[in-house]
Amino acid sequence: MTTGKSSSEWIDIEKKYYAQTVRRQPVVIVRGEGARVWDADGKEYLDFVAGWAVNQLGHSHPAITQAIAEQAGTLLQTSNQFYTVPQLQLAEMLVENSCLDLVFFGNSGAEAVEGAMKLARRYGKLHRDGAYEIITAFNSFHGRTQATVAATGQPHYQENFAPLLPGFVHVDYNDVEGVMNATSDRTAAVMVEPVQGEAGVIIPDDDYLQRLRQWCDSQGILLILDEVQTGMGRLGSLFGYQEYEVEPDVMTLAKGLGYGVPIGAFLSKAHCQALVPGDHGSTFGGNALTTAAGYAGTKFLIENDIPGHVKQMEPYLLGRLNDVKDRFSFVTEVRGKGLLAAMDFDDAISGQVLANCNEAGLLLNGPRPNTIRFMPPLNTTPAEIDEAVGRLEEALAKI
Ligand SMILES: *Cc1c(COP(=O)(O)O)cnc(C)c1O
Repeated sequence: MTTGKSSSEWIDIEKKYYAQTVRRQPVVIVRGEGARVWDADGKEYLDFVAGWAVNQLGHSHPAITQAIAEQAGTLLQTSNQFYTVPQLQLAEMLVENSCLDLVFFGNSGAEAVEGAMKLARRYGKLHRDGAYEIITAFNSFHGRTQATVAATGQPHYQENFAPLLPGFVHVDYNDVEGVMNATSDRTAAVMVEPVQGEAGVIIPDDDYLQRLRQWCDSQGILLILDEVQTGMGRLGSLFGYQEYEVEPDVMTLAKGLGYGVPIGAFLSKAHCQALVPGDHGSTFGGNALTTAAGYAGTKFLIENDIPGHVKQMEPYLLGRLNDVKDRFSFVTEVRGKGLLAAMDFDDAISGQVLANCNEAGLLLNGPRPNTIRFMPPLNTTPAEIDEAVGRLEEALAKI
């Protein structure tokens, strides 16, 4: 596909016209198919970023493109004063396949978390004598809006935007005693990620979520699981909580829920649904286009047991990455769950590794200066994993 300009010409245009808020890798992607993308110069890459754990079925999957094309020619946007069918089909599918009872759709992960936190505050007002605090974890990531930045336990996302929204207490991830000590009569909810994605794929202790669940039950506070990154099959079950045998009161979804279109959702159990008409809304939230894509993709995911495929690919991907670790002494650790994996180095070289990977034809992401992350499409194959690992080794050999 030709765009009339080279990658470097497009990058110059970006520097001139686009707000410089994101550190980008110098790759101008013009087309994608399955696990592969092509840049404006015609170079091919294996895409193990997948739109940031979004493209669960890869690029241009026929089930998604067909649903989008059909819906685009039928109905896009109506406002939520009216009912639309794809929104209700996706809502029914998510509820019938989860432990939650009710859904609200927004447009992004941050918006999903905002909704979940509004629900928690409303719940606190109704059932906990005005409790409003939410306990979250250090090194968490919950989004970039003012409220979700306050929830996020990473000072470098917060410092430039103080004063922060009050009502958040941070404790270490995996530290249940920390949560216990931080709980007071102001506490409305505890919110954590089943696996911390942006922190560099931090896997919880086996009993962490279960112990949090017990604590929340004993205190009458809500357990919110932010599954924006771990939901929709990423960890090897449709939802991450299923891997840890706990049921959240509230769950957020986004990223993988849209298969490439922007959508988010928060789901809740009936007992904690404290929001009433007028409390919350969204102009675009759950519109016919995004929910038609979400419905088609989720139907495909479930009918083809893509989470089961992820479970099979997990040991394969981790095995291959551990082979790499054995070959390069500066690789210190490999970890992951499902098709969310990370590799640590003994030094802050992830930027250099990513640049070398780009050259070798592999797209990855570096959540930490010494960590790179792998989040391929969920329907990736052993052959694609082999090819990606080959390109990774080529990149590491030049370090
Ligand atoms: C990405 C992410 C968000 C924010 O989602 P956006 O769509 O970027 O607003 C929130 N929570 C978690 C766990 C995420 O990984």
